[in-house]
Amino acid sequence: MTNTYASTYTDVLIIGSGGAGLTLALKLADLYRVTILSKLTTDESNTRYAQGGISAVFDDSDSIDSHIQDTLKTGEGLCDPDIVTLTVKQGRESIDWLINQGVSFTHDTDHGSDSPRLHLNREGGHTHRRIVHAADATGQSVISTLIERAQEHANITLLEHYNAIDLVTVKSRQFPKGQVTGAYALDSQNNTVIPISARVVVLATGGANKVYLYTSNPDIATGDGLSLAWRAGCRIANMEFMQFHPTCLYHPDARSFLISEAIRGEGAKLLLPNGDPFMHLFDQREELAPRDIVARAIDHQIKKYGIDFVYLDISHKSPAFIKRHFPNIYQQCLKFNIDITTQKIPVVPAAHYTCGGIVTDSTSKTDISGLYAIGEVACTGLHGANRMASNSLLECFVFANQAAESILRELPNKTIPKTIPPWDESQVAKSNEEVVIAHNWDEIRRVMWDYVGIVRSDKRLSRAHERINLLKAEIHEYYSDFTITSDLLELRNLVIVAELIILSAQQRKESRGLHYNQDYPEQDNRTPPQNTILSPKHYASAFIKND
Ligand SMILES: Cc1cc2nc3c(=O)[nH]c(=O)nc-3n(C[C@H](O)[C@H](O)[C@H](O)COP(=O)(O)OP(=O)(O)OC[C@H]3O[C@@H](n4cnc5c(N)ncnc54)[C@H](O)[C@@H]3O)c2cc1C
Repeated sequence: MTNTYASTYTDVLIIGSGGAGLTLALKLADLYRVTILSKLTTDESNTRYAQGGISAVFDDSDSIDSHIQDTLKTGEGLCDPDIVTLTVKQGRESIDWLINQGVSFTHDTDHGSDSPRLHLNREGGHTHRRIVHAADATGQSVISTLIERAQEHANITLLEHYNAIDLVTVKSRQFPKGQVTGAYALDSQNNTVIPISARVVVLATGGANKVYLYTSNPDIATGDGLSLAWRAGCRIANMEFMQFHPTCLYHPDARSFLISEAIRGEGAKLLLPNGDPFMHLFDQREELAPRDIVARAIDHQIKKYGIDFVYLDISHKSPAFIKRHFPNIYQQCLKFNIDITTQKIPVVPAAHYTCGGIVTDSTSKTDISGLYAIGEVACTGLHGANRMASNSLLECFVFANQAAESILRELPNKTIPKTIPPWDESQVAKSNEEVVIAHNWDEIRRVMWDYVGIVRSDKRLSRAHERINLLKAEIHEYYSDFTITSDLLELRNLVIVAELIILSAQQRKESRGLHYNQDYPEQDNRTPPQNTILSPKHYASAFIKND
């Protein structure tokens, strides 16, 4: 893959090479030059680690309406019904497109080994089997295929280890909120900053779950796109709705390994250390209740009994079934001496998915002209107060497609922007105290886990806000004084994400979906439910003072 970059112009700059970014690139590259930035390697993204699959209506007994209703119910009154309908209707088409790219999904062997029928899993919140998957490593299969297709395309440039620092925008009478003209990116292997101008810029940077101490996400998930967009003037919505996956492997040597919900879909039970099941005490759907309910139930039991984890048990299924359906989970657990065909799996909840994000419309446009946002970084209105399992990959493909159609309409009328001035480093020095970065990273993640986690309260939120404000001022000062590194850029973004989550959580005076505040344990149904929308201009004074 290319690692030196001379040109400073591209038609479309896509920041992020997950499922959303790669899909969009492939849909534009026959006509336009596309450059994709990846913070690490091209294949390192949340998409790569997706296990369960992609939701779409294929089963004869299922229907588009049923998928829509399940999504709306899980989203607890905050989904945008038009966006849900648009997304669900494109399910089949998205899967067909992936199959045409070469993704090999698991087929239903019950209907013969050459069966053309896709095997469908069932997951929490879904009333039917509708999860299309590639065994239990769907993301790996999707991402490797899309990267292969992108590498074959002459119009796509893949730049690895390029960390986008900030967007460049200009304001004019025609575009009072600003028009994007490109971005600055740190080439972290050569320690140089490259200005890249583009007619269209797309944020496809994924989620922000590294803001929590325990997460299922890889290191790239530091919410960079959210912070870039916020600094550039975009609205951000619903950041209080952070999804905690109920079942991550609990083992001192296992780093964020997820035990897919599909295991519960196949009848696995959650058990206390003494072997007692407990989900029936919390929800009549038991293990198949939506994730927030299962995560809160586990959190409750862990705190009540002072235990470190609970167990998940799939050993009632035959070893052959387990190895065929969950080969990746079986192998990973075996590495830690847990044979899931005979033994229970120790599990804990961990931060998993960012439901909120940059406010976008049905064509993936943001508030800034020429700037799009797709995938987990965007808030389209699909998930509302809670994401239903396997709807997020679907959202990546559908909104990459929506963006592609809009960009193809828009680009012929867009002029090539002026060259962006070089990055100015004349006022900063090399840091002699990098410990500040490591310390502040840890502190933010610990504060967020302890005070802004699965169960919140007003007191915990204001405590967190005070600490995050202090950290923000300190990080800003550090950023102003010293040369940038990838860790510093991520830290600067992470502290903004933390603040956005806290501000959103403080605004919601009720418990709804993924947001649970013990001072307001019920939903407030006196008025229609509202999205929490933060606008940079409302926070301008605090924001400018500290950042
Ligand atoms: C363990 C796990 C399992 C999951 N299972 C499922 C599932 O079964 N079904 C489902 O629907 N969803 C699942 N999800 C969620 C789903 O995988 C993600 O929502 C989805 O993959 C997000 O895709 P994306 O393209 O938006 O972002 P990502 O795939 O996260 O890609 C983000 C990209 O942005 C780049 N990037 C970030 N910041 C910068 C920067 N500053 N500069 C340059 N590049 C940057 C990264 O390098 C990366 O290439 C799972 C998530 C995890 C973590």
